[in-house]
Amino acid sequence: MPINENEVTWVKPPRMGLLERLYLPAIAQGLQTTLKHMFGKKVTQQFPEERPKLPPNYRGVHRLNRDEQGRVKCVACYMCSTACPARCIDIVAAPSPWPDREKYPEVFVIDELRCIYCGMCEQACPCDAIELTSLFDLTGLSREEMMFDKEKLLSVFDQTATKGEDPIRTKSGKLSIASEPNV
Ligand code: SF4
Ligand code: SF4
Repeated sequence: MPINENEVTWVKPPRMGLLERLYLPAIAQGLQTTLKHMFGKKVTQQFPEERPKLPPNYRGVHRLNRDEQGRVKCVACYMCSTACPARCIDIVAAPSPWPDREKYPEVFVIDELRCIYCGMCEQACPCDAIELTSLFDLTGLSREEMMFDKEKLLSVFDQTATKGEDPIRTKSGKLSIASEPNV
């Protein structure tokens, strides 16, 4: 339906003075803002040259811990994947090639893009085999690259375990009851 002409209110743009037409007040205001930021307190962190100071117990990328013989410590009990609220841990258990446990994870994949970094997997693990590290800047160019498999998760252990900020939190040593048959 066409608009009735007497229902339309026409607004005239305000007339600009000489200074405004030369844009001088706007330029001065812009310079004032620039100078304020040049000499004011710096808040932007120059990453990656400057590394952020992470809080204690920061929850970053996962790692699968190795035992004292360098083997994957996981006994494929599925406690972590059961506890995971995002359902992003995929494990395939197989008979263990070692005598000290019944099973081991033939496949262990975490979808790092689906994970919400809640730490429930670490809490649920009965033998301290999975931990979240302070690593936060691992990137990938595709979704597949962010599906971290067992080798990748073990490599995160190798990369982080000796660093001061990511010590191995597991102190229990021996594998838990979850490693025993019929549990
Ligand atoms: S941190 Fe939370 S969401 Fe991520 S894998 Fe562990 S339990 Fe799942
Ligand atoms: S809870 Fe621990 S031992 Fe059990 S499957 Fe997960 S990482 Fe492995």
